[in-house]
Amino acid sequence: MTLPKDPIKAAAHKERIRQARTGTKASEATKRKMSASQSGEGNHNFGKSISDEQKIKISTTKTGTHQTEETKMRRSLSLKKFYESHPEERDKKGEQLSGFNRGRNLPDEHRKKLSVSHSGERNYLFGKHHSPETIEKIRIANSGENCYHYGQSPSDETRRRMSEALKGDKCYNWKGGITAVNHAIRTCLQYREWIMAVFKRDDFTCQDCGATKVYLHAHHIRLFSDIMQENNITSLEEALLCDALWDVSNGRSLCELCHKREHFGVADEGEEQMVAEAGG
Ligand SMILES: [Zn+2]
Repeated sequence: MTLPKDPIKAAAHKERIRQARTGTKASEATKRKMSASQSGEGNHNFGKSISDEQKIKISTTKTGTHQTEETKMRRSLSLKKFYESHPEERDKKGEQLSGFNRGRNLPDEHRKKLSVSHSGERNYLFGKHHSPETIEKIRIANSGENCYHYGQSPSDETRRRMSEALKGDKCYNWKGGITAVNHAIRTCLQYREWIMAVFKRDDFTCQDCGATKVYLHAHHIRLFSDIMQENNITSLEEALLCDALWDVSNGRSLCELCHKREHFGVADEGEEQMVAEAGG
């Protein structure tokens, strides 16, 4: 197409073409041709960049404006219609959108801004709740093999860290370390020596029923836990220095059943019988 050289005539000519084409539609083939001829180097903006001033104008011109509900609806409907007849385009767009930021790390400052601008009542979900159907959909979409944890088990390193994170005073069941101290005392050499000293003094005989050659317990006349509490013992070191804990006269050798009876009252008949046999 050649235009007249006179700019006024050329403008008039263009206007006539524009009017003649108003309301007509280019065929798909023509559209493709136009698209091809205007892309890349063929585009009138190829190789040009816009000034910073221009950029700011573009970025601010729509700031604060909103599409009317009608426009939104119209755009949404036309997109829906388009994707219905071009399902492959929908997948492509989805892939584009999800891939757009993949592997990108935003600067911390930017993250902070995003966090502020999306938090609280500024969040698009503020005050809203998913419907039960949506919740169910999300649950199904994330369950089983769709779950990002599916088929994964924590590495040894992760397990160790999880264990460390819940140990001691971080555990909901933490009793201030008493269990650990108790265990340390009851397994220390001094404790075993105290037990043996009580047994030897009692000639390995139950001091209640007189049974011998039976499994014996060294019973504390004053409760072990009472002595601990009275002396404010919170560590093995303190326990080792507390004479009351290691006083052999606070111990009595008792067979298993007599020890039970000592703490919980009368043992049942069957147990009495067993004691008799053992004592025979
Ligand atoms: Zn006994």
